Amino acid sequence: MNNRLRKITIVGGGTAGWMTALILDTLFARTSSPKDRPHLCLIESPNISTVGVGEATVPRMPGTLRQAGISERSFFRETNASFKLGVKFCNWNTDAEGNRIDYVNPFAHGQMIDGLDAAEYFLRFGNGDRDFTQSISPHDDLGRLCKGARQLGQPEFEQRFGYAYHLDAVKFAGMLTKVCTKRGVEHIQDEVKSVELDEQGNVSHLMLEHKGRHDIEMVIDCTGFRGLIINKALGEPFMDYSDYLPNDRAMALQIEHPDPEKIESLTRATALGAGWTWRVPLYNRVGTGYVFSSAHRTDDQAADEYLAWLGDSGKGATPRVIPMRIGRVRNAWVKNCVAIGLSGGFIEPLESTAIHMIDHAVRWFAEHLPTRDVAPSLRTRYNRQMNKLYDEVLEFICLHYRLGNRTDDQYWIDARTDMKIPDRLAENLAVWQHRLPMEHDIEFATLFDYRVYQTVLLGKQVYDTGYGTGIRERLRPLKKPIWFQWWKAAKMDLAQTLRTMPDHKTLLRDIRGELDKPAFGMEAAMKPTVAMPGTPPAPLVVQNMPSLDEIQTGQKDLQLF
Ligand SMILES: Cc1cc2nc3c(=O)[nH]c(=O)nc-3n(C[C@H](O)[C@H](O)[C@H](O)COP(=O)(O)OP(=O)(O)OC[C@H]3O[C@@H](n4cnc5c(N)ncnc54)[C@H](O)[C@@H]3O)c2cc1C
Repeated sequence: MNNRLRKITIVGGGTAGWMTALILDTLFARTSSPKDRPHLCLIESPNISTVGVGEATVPRMPGTLRQAGISERSFFRETNASFKLGVKFCNWNTDAEGNRIDYVNPFAHGQMIDGLDAAEYFLRFGNGDRDFTQSISPHDDLGRLCKGARQLGQPEFEQRFGYAYHLDAVKFAGMLTKVCTKRGVEHIQDEVKSVELDEQGNVSHLMLEHKGRHDIEMVIDCTGFRGLIINKALGEPFMDYSDYLPNDRAMALQIEHPDPEKIESLTRATALGAGWTWRVPLYNRVGTGYVFSSAHRTDDQAADEYLAWLGDSGKGATPRVIPMRIGRVRNAWVKNCVAIGLSGGFIEPLESTAIHMIDHAVRWFAEHLPTRDVAPSLRTRYNRQMNKLYDEVLEFICLHYRLGNRTDDQYWIDARTDMKIPDRLAENLAVWQHRLPMEHDIEFATLFDYRVYQTVLLGKQVYDTGYGTGIRERLRPLKKPIWFQWWKAAKMDLAQTLRTMPDHKTLLRDIRGELDKPAFGMEAAMKPTVAMPGTPPAPLVVQNMPSLDEIQTGQKDLQLF
């Protein structure tokens, strides 16, 4: 008898539910004939709203859209998306003189110089006023100058520089609804009132408020923090991470662009009194929020602090408070139910990893896709893989707090000293006091490999502010001219890049098809910026940019800001 799965039911119509539907549909379309594909059905309550945040992504997303056959133009139009080149961490640390440090964690890999990490050279010789990120990639400068991630007229998804997106979460779910239902995903708008189990403990059917009994073969729980099926019906325990991460609440507010022509191509994560704020600039507005610890601030205190930070943009506004359940379910796949999205777990959004984790979860599920009788070994392997992903993100987020050096609020002292850190991170931190992170230090990395750790350590300037004080005595005997030769060439590339890249807003208009004359080809690609019809050309942000000749001949140095 054919034991293939005939139907997969997804409960929840937030980002997790619809991304699950999209990715499964895409993968099934590639690998099986229509008659062998499981039917996809998504049930979404019309009365329970989605979490409505989650607007910054990581570089996996462009590939996912592309694979699903969604054009970037329609994506940018429908979700008011913008480009994200990395995350700018503001005020998380202070330097040796007590000045605030801001640095960018870019979507760029650290460079290799003669087979050695550029980080080794940077630590040994520094690079004048430029920090590590500014030395190895243009992402910080591009973001600060509100430049785009590729040239005008370049093909969709072209990765001139590593990029991700900022997007409107509600519109994104709306776009996915349209795409998926058009492709045959059944959409039921009804509320699950109860979950019934069979004698083996599998979910046998759901009772819907209006449509009644809905039979289940395999169910994906995407019901958000509620964990309706995985926690409530199946009783899978939740592993709380509050010993590791202090923040358990957030508040959010959408504001207008202070200058709609200047869209920063970076997410900002700015440390505040008892947590940090996000700033996610979309095409038409800016998403902001404050992630904080309820042990250190009441909601009212946090709101005061947050609104003061927003200044005029937040005047008279009442932020929406979002309680956060931080941690993960012990096992995401239990019986015939897999929890994906917030129902499976959530680590605070400092590195915008949740959508990335949803993406992996769905793909790994598809790889282990069962017959109607789930092989326990497949379930075990899937759960182990998911738990490794949570560990990867947890370790990296803990790093930011453990290596902070602020002392101006008890929160930052507690976050550094009272919070537990995972054993492997503790072991690595002991090693990195003596040398920089190396490839084999990180055993599992879907996102945060050793080079990203190098960026954070050097970005926070930890080796100048007390951590690893002996490291400089152990530095490799590197040749200074190699580093400066390399930087000289890199600097010329950078000057060329900054001169020729279009501004972000113009690029977005071009992609959305809103420029009177769409830009195509090399001529367009080389134009620094395209003035909107009827507007005078925008003033150049980089003043007195030396020519390449002047840089090459050493007459002038590249002075950025
Ligand atoms: C403060 C904050 C900031 C974040 N920032 C980021 C970020 O920058 N980047 C990132 O990648 N992620 C971020 N996230 C995470 C991201 O928002 C979520 O991972 C993503 O939105 C997926 O949510 P979800 O679909 O799992 O849950 P939800 O959006 O909560 O959706 C739950 C769905 O389940 C349905 N439902 C619930 N109960 C029932 C029922 N009984 N019957 C039928 N349907 C039901 C609801 O109607 C809804 O459709 C952030 C999260 C928070 C809290």
